[in-house]
Amino acid sequence: MLRTKGYATQGPTQPLQPFTFDRRDVGPNDVLIEIAYCGICHSDIHQARDEWGGSIFPMVPGHEIAGHVMQVGRKVKRFKKGDAAGVGCFVDSCRKCSNCKDGEEQFCEKGMVGTYNSLEKDRKSPTQGGYSSHIVVDEKYVLKISKKLPLEKVAPLLCAGITTYSPLRHFAVKKGQKVGVVGLGGLGHMAVKLAASMGARVTVLSTSASKEKDAKRLGAHEFVLTTNPENFKKHSGKFDFILDAVSAPHDLNQYLGLLKKDGTLVIVGVPVKPAEIEAFSLIFGRKRLAGSLIGGIRETQEMLDYCAKKKITSDVEVIPVSKINEAYERTIKGDVKYRFVIDMKTL
Ligand code: NAP
Ligand code: ZN
Ligand code: ZN
Repeated sequence: MLRTKGYATQGPTQPLQPFTFDRRDVGPNDVLIEIAYCGICHSDIHQARDEWGGSIFPMVPGHEIAGHVMQVGRKVKRFKKGDAAGVGCFVDSCRKCSNCKDGEEQFCEKGMVGTYNSLEKDRKSPTQGGYSSHIVVDEKYVLKISKKLPLEKVAPLLCAGITTYSPLRHFAVKKGQKVGVVGLGGLGHMAVKLAASMGARVTVLSTSASKEKDAKRLGAHEFVLTTNPENFKKHSGKFDFILDAVSAPHDLNQYLGLLKKDGTLVIVGVPVKPAEIEAFSLIFGRKRLAGSLIGGIRETQEMLDYCAKKKITSDVEVIPVSKINEAYERTIKGDVKYRFVIDMKTL
């Protein structure tokens, strides 16, 4: 076993603290990665605080992992020592069901093995995430990262990037379409960059007036303050597609009202309280409400390659590991531009 240093929480009301644990030895198909950077996703906070229920403690969160390959198993073909490599939200799946075969392992019928707060395929050993020095992952679930882009700015692509890229592609957002992004946080700011790069006309729908300048700098054409109810009337029926990346409860009916006929609202944010939908919000205009979950390995690699080609990365604030708890509080307050990334050298 490989002794590994990390930061863990022991329970939903506990702070993250130094923690030492064992990772498995490098098997024939495994890659050992020395973690350089790990992003802080709002999903880390939801799970560390058990807001979705069923959390497994002690928990080392972190699923926006970027680093370098230190060692490979004897059967590994795609990686060699020194390569830049990434790990996202899952580290294994059954590999046999139709969703796995389609390259959409996030929807594995047996349940994907999450990078942390999950159990390995033996359904006994808990997984631990990227707020740690090293990780051992089967090469099939490891992503290649271009050395052209700074690693700390690439790390958030492993969750925030793919979670926004995948629905933009799946729902075929096209050049010239009017796209709304609700919530300018870690996911939201990537959605703005990616949708703009695909030629969409992007509007940020935000509760924070202070983010208007940034929204435009990130590529948005327009900024709408959603704390003013008049704005929902003014922009009613104007949008082809809206991506909702808000982490807290809010009224989806208001946003459905912004869609054109046959428009689609895709939810990626996971507030803790269920939403209430009025039938009228959907039936007038034959509107669609859909969801999307991260993305499969094939699409995640496609997204990383796309971002390398287009030079798209995340806007990050790099922090030492000792500032994790403070970063959690600041993320909840929306005080982050636009992703905290932990420098693992400070561990
Ligand atoms: P984040 O950085 O904290 O951003 C969330 C944004 O939501 C905030 O910046 C804020 O934007 C807005 N917001 C926060 N509280 C609000 C409130 N009370 N009312 C209205 N707007 C509010 O979070 P993130 O890391 O981007 O994650 C966003 C959500 O997506 C989380 O729930 C996370 O768990 C989920 N997630 C889902 C997937 C998936 O696969 N579906 C993957 C990753 C994350 P403004 O200031 O602009 O209003
Ligand atoms: Zn995430
Ligand atoms: Zn499967």
